[in-house]
Formats: sequence, C-alpha cells, structure tokens
Amino acid sequence: MARLVVVSNRVGVPDSGARAGGLEVSIRPALRRRGGVWFGWSGRVADDDPGPAKTIERDNVSYVTIGLRKDDYEEFYNGFANRVLWPILHYRLDLAEFTRRDLGGYFRVNEFFASNLEGMLTPDDVIWVHDYHLIPLAKALRERGHKNRIGFFIHIPCPPPEILTALPNHEQLIPALCHYDLIGFQTEVDATNFSRYLANECGLSWAQGNSFHFGSRVVQIGTFPVGVETEGLARLARRAIESEFVREVLDSLSGRAMIIGVDRLDYSKGLPERMNAYERFLTNFPDWRGKVTYLQITPHSRAEIPEYSDIGRLVGETVGRINGTFGEASWTPVRYINKAHSRTALAGLYRGARAALVTPLRDGMNLVAKEFVASQNANDPGVLILSRFAGAAHECTSALLVNPYDSEGVAIAINRALAMPLEERRARHAANFKMLAANDLSHWAERFLAALEHPPGEAVVVPPVRVAGSR
Ligand code: UDP
Repeated sequence: MARLVVVSNRVGVPDSGARAGGLEVSIRPALRRRGGVWFGWSGRVADDDPGPAKTIERDNVSYVTIGLRKDDYEEFYNGFANRVLWPILHYRLDLAEFTRRDLGGYFRVNEFFASNLEGMLTPDDVIWVHDYHLIPLAKALRERGHKNRIGFFIHIPCPPPEILTALPNHEQLIPALCHYDLIGFQTEVDATNFSRYLANECGLSWAQGNSFHFGSRVVQIGTFPVGVETEGLARLARRAIESEFVREVLDSLSGRAMIIGVDRLDYSKGLPERMNAYERFLTNFPDWRGKVTYLQITPHSRAEIPEYSDIGRLVGETVGRINGTFGEASWTPVRYINKAHSRTALAGLYRGARAALVTPLRDGMNLVAKEFVASQNANDPGVLILSRFAGAAHECTSALLVNPYDSEGVAIAINRALAMPLEERRARHAANFKMLAANDLSHWAERFLAALEHPPGEAVVVPPVRVAGSR
C-alpha cells in the first residue's frame, strides 16, 4: 500500500492544541494505517525568516510544519485565501477584495509549500491536498517533476462559472486544478459547477465517465460528502446530556423549549438573517413568547478581517434589539455566547434541544447540522431546520428545508418544528440518521483514496455528476 502524504493549511499535530477539525478524525486512521506525512503551516508567523520545518513522529506518521513570514501570512492567508477565495467561493462577490499583491503572495506560499515538500516525497507516495488555500500546489509539484497521484478535496462550495469568472485572474488559478488527478467536491452541484467551468471556460473535452482530458492527462471529478462519526456521536450525546454542564443549562430553561444554533462568526452562516427570522417568529407566533429560548453559540473567527468584526457588531445589535423588545425580567428570548464549547458539551446541548437552526446563506457541508441529527434521542428527537444552501441539505432531506433569505418562511418553520407531532419528528429523524449512518466519516477518506489510486482508464468508481438542480 502506497504511503500517504496529506497537505493542508493547518495540521492536526497530536497533543499540540492545534485544531484541524473533522479532518483530523477522518485522516488520521488512514495516515496511521499506511504510514506517511501530514504537512502544513504551523500557525506561527515570523517577522522575517520562519526557520526550518519542525517534525514530530508519532504512530507511523511524520507531522511536519513550517512557519510563515508576516507578509506571506498577510497576503496568502488573510489576503487572497480569506478575503478573495472564501467570499467568492461562497457566492459573495460583493465582499471580495482582490489585489494582485495578495494573489502573488498566494502563489508564493504555494511554491514555498512545494519546495518544502520536495525532499520528503518518494515516487510512489499518494498525495492528498486539502482546500482552497492550496489550489496551485499540484502544478507547483508537477513543475518540480513529481509524477505522483495527487488528489485535491475542496471543503467549501464551488460556485457556477458565472461567479468563478468574476475572480480576477481566474484563468491563471482555476485551471491549475487540472494538475491534480482527482478533484473531490462536497456535493454534485459543486462538481457540476466546476465541470461546467472546465468545459466552457477552458474548452476541455470530456473523457470517460466524469473526467476531462487535460493535455496528455485525465482529470477525474468526484463527489465525496464529508460525514460525521454518526454512531460515536450518538453514544457521546447519550452520556453528555447527563453531564453537570448540560444539566445546568437545561435546568436554567425552567421547562422552556430550547432552540440551538452553533456557528463560527462568519458572514456565510446567515446569522443576522436568522436573528431576523427568530424576531419574526416571536412577532407572528406570540403564543410562543416566554415558552422558548434560543441559544446561539458563536465563537469568534478571523477577527483581523473587518467583514468579520462588522458581522459581529450586527449580530450583537440584533440580539440586543430582540431581547429588549420581547424579553421579560424572567425570560431572555436569545442567549448569545461567543465562547467555543467542547464537542462533548455541544453533543449534550444538541440532544437537549427541541430544534436546531442551521441556516447558512451558503456552506460547503455544515457539520453542525449532521452532528445535531446524530446526537438526538431517537424516541423523542429534536427537529433540524436546515438551509437548502448547505451541502448537508443534499443528505438531510428530511429536515425542514428553508430558504435562509426568507425570514417569514424560516419563522413558519420554527413554529412547525416546535409544534411537530412526535410521530413526524421520529420519522424525519430516522430518515436523516439512516442517511448519515450510511455515510459515516470513517468511510470518507478511504472512498476518496480508492478513487485517487484507481489507475486511469479503468471504470471510475465515484458516482457520475448529474445536472445541477437535481437534488
Ligand atoms: N465547533 C466546536 N465548538 C464550538 C463551535 C463549533 O467544536 O464552540 C465545531 C462543530 O462541532 C463542527 C465544527 O466546529 O464540528 C464546525 O464545522 P462546520 O462544518 O459546521 O462549519 P465551519 O466552521 O467548518 O464553517
């Protein structure tokens, strides 16, 4: 079995406190089994020379991290990745702040990654690159002569070519993806959008299955929706609801129903729109006043970027308005918390909630939606209210699917969720849970790697892309 080399912006170095999220859980078993390397940025920013790479060996895996210079960090990470690619790939052209300097920094850091990786690679290694920070990495490696199988998975959405082409210099960047052997997406809509870009903008011709000819190479496109550890989370939630912390929260509700929301503070999550919908719900369904509490957990993120402080201010003001207008001395309609909570605490809170509001304006997958479903008590489950624009909506089709821009529609869905008969709640939850159990996180990495290692020319094992709108 070939050795695996994983490359991502952040690395889940054991015992370091560095977080690489779900990636850690899904990638580490594959890495340990095959042996290999996980390479990426350490999170360190140096004023000048970031110094040599650091390596930690553990369980058959080398965790190798490098620091970034301050200008690299500003241009690559804060600049092009988070202020251009993040908004544009989330369909927010209005928020993109493109500069050629940042684009230059983005390519420079990808070259830096490639030159650091060079000495570590052997010809048989299978290389798996993650996410929008590293689009040109395969090209940089090919230019250094590496002929390895290289796969890429993008965790965030891929918009249609009509939006992608508004990215200045897209011709320089997006086609660079064709140097990967396999490009994986969260949903068929994302894969179809990208395929349309390759066909319409790059004039590439279809090869067998869902692949394109790119020079002498064949680029394969696949859909690999990221899952959660469904059964594991269900077990964790059963224990967590008995914890002192969760008991204390539930007791403090004095018998009121709890609606929960858990999102990083990010404009893609639709938090102001969600608050407006909750306000509309309290206005249009006054019988619920005093009987429901909405707990919104929102850790800060990317605080150095002005759009993030703007959204923080707006959400805070909206919460204040709702609590000021509807609150009583004995009842706070919205509890808004900026502290991050542990996975265990969240699992217990999900299980104690009557409904979850997961209403991003656009989201690659949204793991919170899946974690909420996995954490429910199957005999008395809460209801998931889910944006149709989250990747998770393609699997959790028995959620109450809503348009997050339609505050009246979301308000109606909140009322429906809270009033939903037990039988309907059970049926919806069972259908969603079944879907998530079939796509457990543990299968995800192996599915991707099986497709990546499949020799070109053989039948492609990933499902074919259907036409957009086929959800
Ligand atoms: N999360 C957490 N603590 C918090 C808030 C979120 O551990 O206080 C986790 C959450 O359980 C989920 C992840 O962070 O696994 C967020 O993933 P998601 O796909 O929902 O959104 P992203 O932040 O990646 O855009």
